Amino acid sequence: MSALYGTYARSELAFERGEGVRLFAQDGTEYLDFHSGIAVNALGHADPHIVTAIKSAAEKVWHTSNTFTIPEQEKLASRLCEATFADAVFFTNSGTEAIECAIKTARRHFYAKGEADRYEIIAFNGSFHGRTMGAIAAGGNPGYLEGFGPPLEGFKHLAPGDLDAVKAAIGPQSCAILIEPVQGEGGVTAMTPEFMQGLRRLCDEHGMLLILDEVQCGYGRTGMFFAHEWSGITPDIMAVAKGIGAGFPLGACLATAEVAAAMVPGTHGSTYGGNPLACAVGNAVLDRILAPGFIESVNNAGQSLHWHLRQLAQRFPHHITEVRGKGLLAGIKIKPPVKDFVVRLRDDHHLLAIGAGDNVLRLLPPLIISEDDIKQAIEKLAEAFTAIDREADGTIAAD
Ligand SMILES: *Cc1c(COP(=O)(O)O)cnc(C)c1O
Repeated sequence: MSALYGTYARSELAFERGEGVRLFAQDGTEYLDFHSGIAVNALGHADPHIVTAIKSAAEKVWHTSNTFTIPEQEKLASRLCEATFADAVFFTNSGTEAIECAIKTARRHFYAKGEADRYEIIAFNGSFHGRTMGAIAAGGNPGYLEGFGPPLEGFKHLAPGDLDAVKAAIGPQSCAILIEPVQGEGGVTAMTPEFMQGLRRLCDEHGMLLILDEVQCGYGRTGMFFAHEWSGITPDIMAVAKGIGAGFPLGACLATAEVAAAMVPGTHGSTYGGNPLACAVGNAVLDRILAPGFIESVNNAGQSLHWHLRQLAQRFPHHITEVRGKGLLAGIKIKPPVKDFVVRLRDDHHLLAIGAGDNVLRLLPPLIISEDDIKQAIEKLAEAFTAIDREADGTIAAD
């Protein structure tokens, strides 16, 4: 009996070590990792640059609290601002905390302007923003809200892609629009550039803020540093996590100077958020992500993965009905139940992947994935679909 909360339907599989895009179980079995700890291990496993950085940081100062200046944090913040729309950063330990900070920042901005009753945020069906009380209200997934008392007030949920519905939903209390440019957990749905541009325009017309949740789709994963760059717009506030620490718990809320100005001393805080150890890792990760050619190589890998997935869909049209996503946040909508298919891939073909909403198989390899490894993963997928066909034919007994 496990002494843990039963909040996960865990597999008994446990890994002992990792190397690049491969994980090795306790019995030595090798797995190809297209899961990346849910889009977290951006640089794969045991990246030498990150390992060196964390070792050397561990011998200095791990933690001081944010009541002191943290040079590694200052450095990471200015590098992030340099590379994005943002002027100011608040560091957290997770994606859900980055979303909390984003919601608080948006609401506080209007409060500081004397418009305290402007607190309503327009969000979207199929989104996922994390598991705090604020984030489950923002996500609006009934299954995640059930049993936890009255949800945090002030969120409206609409169908993604319907600009007219957004326009119609905007009222005097609306303060912001919150969206994932590519929905991850909800079903790997990429928003169109037109929709993203339309949301930006509506925000500008109505004096509202655009909040992007790039916790999963950001940090290079789609082939741009941030996914919103594909549509040529910028947000006012952005939540980041997952890839930013490449496995070390770290998140960030980025904002423009005008919006961040309302977050004065006392309005928000975090004991651990952005501590020296986390930010040393964050800086080392950023060294790799922003190295010349890195994001371009992610873009190439993403295009290759999508090309191969489209080929696979042509080969197995009875199993794959749609290829979704952007770059290395890819998905295939499949006919076999995705939960079972994930287990089949793992146990029979030693490929790690993850399910998403709408019966989508989500493929999230480390950003360092090679063409060869993509081909191997595709081959494993093909083998898995072929095995299903053979079982259906009843020829499995002859194996
Ligand atoms: C994972 C995720 C979150 C929550 O991040 P945690 O680190 O699990 O709190 C929020 N938004 C999106 C889009 C995510 O994928």
